[in-house]
Amino acid sequence: MKKYDADYVSNIIAGVEKRNPGEPEFHQAVKEVLTSIEKVIEARPDYVDAGIVERIVEPERFVQFRVAWVDDKGEVQVNRGYRCQFNSAIGPYKGGIRLHPSVNASIIKFLGFEQIFKNSLTGLPMGGGKGGSDFDPKGKSDGEVMRFCQAFMNELYRHIGADTDVPAGDIGTGSREIGYMFGQYKKITNEFTGVLTGKALPSGGSLARPEATGFGLCYFTDEMLKAAGRSFEGAKVVISGSGNVATFAAVKATTLGGKVIAMSDSSGYIVDENGVDIDLVMNIKKNRSARISEYVNTHKDAKFIPDCRAIWTVPCDIALPCATQNELDAAGAKALVKNGAFAVAEGANMPSTPEAIEIFKENKILFAPAKASNAGGVATSGLEMSQNSLRLSWSFEEVDSRLHGIMVNIFKNASEAAEKYGAKGDLVVGANIAGFTKVADAMLWQGIM
Ligand code: NDP
Repeated sequence: MKKYDADYVSNIIAGVEKRNPGEPEFHQAVKEVLTSIEKVIEARPDYVDAGIVERIVEPERFVQFRVAWVDDKGEVQVNRGYRCQFNSAIGPYKGGIRLHPSVNASIIKFLGFEQIFKNSLTGLPMGGGKGGSDFDPKGKSDGEVMRFCQAFMNELYRHIGADTDVPAGDIGTGSREIGYMFGQYKKITNEFTGVLTGKALPSGGSLARPEATGFGLCYFTDEMLKAAGRSFEGAKVVISGSGNVATFAAVKATTLGGKVIAMSDSSGYIVDENGVDIDLVMNIKKNRSARISEYVNTHKDAKFIPDCRAIWTVPCDIALPCATQNELDAAGAKALVKNGAFAVAEGANMPSTPEAIEIFKENKILFAPAKASNAGGVATSGLEMSQNSLRLSWSFEEVDSRLHGIMVNIFKNASEAAEKYGAKGDLVVGANIAGFTKVADAMLWQGIM
């Protein structure tokens, strides 16, 4: 029988590093979760006996496949596709599809691993998964994107299903890409089912799904701020990114009384002290190839700085990193602290490096970790699945109010779990523990597999 000792967790982390060489993002995500749930593992010998931790860090299934398609010049292009079905203890695998040149096995595994705990936190019955490809939709014609998505689905369809694995959007995968993938799945299987979320409304999509991650982020942040006697009211807000999550976070932060003064894309950031014109940003970025620098053509008081990582040097009260992993490092964290920021809430997945999180802790900055604060997107995907099963569609207000309730609950559960394990106010610890225990209990109940 296995026993817990001081080296138990570090040995498992070392094992993950050895079995998954050259996958730094995956190692980072595993380390962050395991080190913060140590107290639970120590207190639960039944988890140790059943090898819960050793099993939870190993994907149940990891598929890699060739995606061959023909571009507009008639030339054959080959990309690599992935689907990681990480954990199905509490429901069908669920997680987005990322289309970006940086996609590799490490990125997909880190995202799939995070998704397990995030989905658990929503309180909905969804397991964890993630997929994607190194295909870059930027600069591609509609026809090329369609042919790629169809080719991608020609393999993916074997592995997914409304009760098996339900993918959704992520970086590079919006409504257009989901539409092409959904059409191809329907064509191949001759089935109209809720196999993907983020669908357009006439095909069974949910109202408020596009808004959900950004809105949910602000609902969560609002709870965190209230608990600390603060609010969005009158706060200067800096948001990285200008895609789905960033733009809807900007809309909600403004509704809650904040003033968004800076946003970015991978080419740089804009600062507009008058308050960013969010409709204009959305309009510019409708075209995936467009650059945010276009903003200053019509807003002469605004400035464009061609260095996306430097956005954190813009003095603000609240920072919402909503672009990509590891975009907020120690230098960014130090700049935020120096300029008096009081809260950081993650919209993107793992946007803050471990060093940055340490700096926030040391300086008592309120910090909302992604798996809690950006869970609104997948939660609303869960609500889309419910509507599809019921053959019903709810109003925007109904979905938004359920989303709000879910985010309030996630905050409550994460705060309570942190307090229970002696880490009051530490939402990283609280979110990891609350997400982990539900999945661990389900794995325990289902036996060794
Ligand atoms: P989008 O593709 O809609 O937008 C991504 C945005 O980030 C683009 O504006 C992109 O700019 C920008 N960007 C990429 N890299 C950088 C960088 N290094 N610095 C600044 N900006 C950058 O993606 P989403 O908004 O959907 O996703 C953003 C993040 O949120 C990801 O981490 C994703 O995993 C996470 N997330 C998304 C959910 C969703 O519902 N969509 C749900 C939960 C999490 P450019 O145009 O130059 O590439």
